[in-house]
Amino acid sequence: MPYGAGLTGGDGPERMSGMEFRDLKEQYLQHKEAIDGAVQRVLEQAHFIGGEQVQKLEEKLAAYTGVKHCITCANGTDALQLALMACGVREGDAVFVPDFTFFATAEVAPWVGATPIFVDVDRHTFNLSPQALEEAVRNVIQEGKLKPRVVIAVDLFGQAADYAALRRITQQYGMLLMEDAAQGFGGKIGEQKACSFGDISTTSFFPAKPLGCYGDGGAVFTDNDDWAELLRSYKVHGKGSDKYDNVRIGINSRLDTLQAAVLIEKLQFLDEELERCNEAAASYTEKLKGHVKTPVVLSGYYSSWAQYTVQFENKEQREKAAAGLKEAGIPSMVYYMKPMHKQAAFADMALDSADCPVTERICDTCLSLPMHPYLQEQDVHRICEALLSSLEK
Ligand SMILES: *Cc1c(COP(=O)(O)O)cnc(C)c1O
Repeated sequence: MPYGAGLTGGDGPERMSGMEFRDLKEQYLQHKEAIDGAVQRVLEQAHFIGGEQVQKLEEKLAAYTGVKHCITCANGTDALQLALMACGVREGDAVFVPDFTFFATAEVAPWVGATPIFVDVDRHTFNLSPQALEEAVRNVIQEGKLKPRVVIAVDLFGQAADYAALRRITQQYGMLLMEDAAQGFGGKIGEQKACSFGDISTTSFFPAKPLGCYGDGGAVFTDNDDWAELLRSYKVHGKGSDKYDNVRIGINSRLDTLQAAVLIEKLQFLDEELERCNEAAASYTEKLKGHVKTPVVLSGYYSSWAQYTVQFENKEQREKAAAGLKEAGIPSMVYYMKPMHKQAAFADMALDSADCPVTERICDTCLSLPMHPYLQEQDVHRICEALLSSLEK
């Protein structure tokens, strides 16, 4: 799990301490009336699958991101799989993914029979390194076993990847560019929004993501009419004219009406929430810079701050800081402990030889601090004090 169950509020130790890693309870309390009303309407209308709210949400998400088609589905992992299916990615294809990401980004490649190739990330942004990508593509071509087919770039921790550089590479080698914006919804490069950078892009509405629902949810975005039609078929059992006319093998992946209704409400205050996250991030950085390596947001980029992640000099220092925070009743998380190429699930794909020194170093030294729109200035102050004093011990 990218975010454990305890992080969504409820009964984890962070709750007892009074500080949440991501405070979904406060978000609900602030918008209770609107959300309760939306949920109540769904209960009364009783169209729990495919209710009018689903289409309405898709229209709103398409308008928000500036992409022609938005197709909702059951979760962000299905969104990635549906996108690969729509593009016709299959056995013999190489799917390039960052070595530093949540498991799902690569998990979907074997589902369609393709092979994930793990690529190292940039040491400042933690996003896919264009240089490492080009090298990996050349290696695959030289080996001659797989066809370089698609790059899945991830907008890690809320910041969009370097799409200008990645696009030059995918164009040069005739590959598709896919954007996994599960953590990046609401982020921007200039005025262009996340979910619009790929030929096809995906996001997740898992509760703790920048735009989260109250369960599972996801969406695929594309300007391509043919792919949009395929996506609408694949997500409903490969339907033709209706769900009992099946023209291809699909899956069952729907966003339910209750989640759509919640998301319609939440979308209305997303921008305001992202502004608050950016203020909290600026405050963190001001207090921590010079003591630990603070997140780098590139000029012209706007992060949606799925995570605020700092780096320490070494693993011992990271563990010391995490222990110090815990002692002070402050939750922190390591995203991610393990490079993808070292996950046991990929062991039989003989990819453990992947050369990703930057990812290995980040896995040992990174720590994510509480980050959400309802984090108060005094919380940031308390967290930074605890972190800095733990380093002096
Ligand atoms: C959360 C996440 C996913 C998967 O989303 P789910 O809705 O949990 O299936 C995929 N990619 C990344 C980068 C994520 O953080």
